[in-house]
Amino acid sequence: MHGRYIKGGNFWDATSNILDSGTWKHLSNTKSKALECIRKSIGNGETTSIWFDPWIQEGRIVDLLHSLSPQQTGTGNWTVSRLIHNSQWNIIIPCLIPLLPSIANISITGQKDSCKWLPTGNGVFSFYSAWNHIRSSGAVFELYNVVWFPSSNPRMSYCLLKALYNRLSTRDRLINFGISSSDICVLCNLAKESRDHLYFQCPYSIFIWKLCKLKLQMNDIDDRDLNTEAQNIQRNFKLKDKSYILARLALNSTVWHVWQERIRRIFQNQKMHKIMVFRRIYEDIKISVEFNCLACMAGKD
Ligand SMILES: [Zn+2]
Repeated sequence: MHGRYIKGGNFWDATSNILDSGTWKHLSNTKSKALECIRKSIGNGETTSIWFDPWIQEGRIVDLLHSLSPQQTGTGNWTVSRLIHNSQWNIIIPCLIPLLPSIANISITGQKDSCKWLPTGNGVFSFYSAWNHIRSSGAVFELYNVVWFPSSNPRMSYCLLKALYNRLSTRDRLINFGISSSDICVLCNLAKESRDHLYFQCPYSIFIWKLCKLKLQMNDIDDRDLNTEAQNIQRNFKLKDKSYILARLALNSTVWHVWQERIRRIFQNQKMHKIMVFRRIYEDIKISVEFNCLACMAGKD
């Protein structure tokens, strides 16, 4: 890395270009984030650049005195050890005088210089703290526990998640991308296919979901909207209640099997009656519940 990219310069100011390795380009892109988290602890100052390393609390001196080039002062390659005399600060570069209050606060230990990682209290690097620092924390997905739960099927959960975010490849979206020539729902051939139509304005899926709600003794309100149905399940059932697990399994399974039926009709030219689709949903839920009961019994043994 030193020989190829830094070439005797400073790591923090080394740049990348399009032909460089992916690792180096990624490092270059995240350097500014890392710079916010790293401070050099001065021991004897011998391995710390006065201008380019972050060794005072406010950051790098080259950034703080940006109107001044280190080369102009002839001290561009000096290390902090040049500012130390008899274990005391000896600021012999006049342009650094304004920074004296910050520099004077730094105690000189006489040991080797070291790096301090600021996000952790003890100064030691951890991947957890680094990830927390660089990640962008988005809004919390409030329906997370309707989508993901211990007995959920990952494929079905992912399908439901995509549906809730309106990211399924429904025909209204495909037409916008110029991929599909028809926008008619293949389940009913009556209306345009969209997420909101499939879940739940289409007579085919309405029938299946109504049957599920009947079995689960859920109130059949006329919301006919996937997000509202998911919110109702979350609101109306208490956590750890068995019926809550069943309702979530039913919603996950219904969204999945309606989507599978759509795929079957478009790509395999085959049809399954809505009663048969409901039967599959029922079987899915039954298998999940039985599997969980067996797992619980095995846990008690
Ligand atoms: Zn339809």
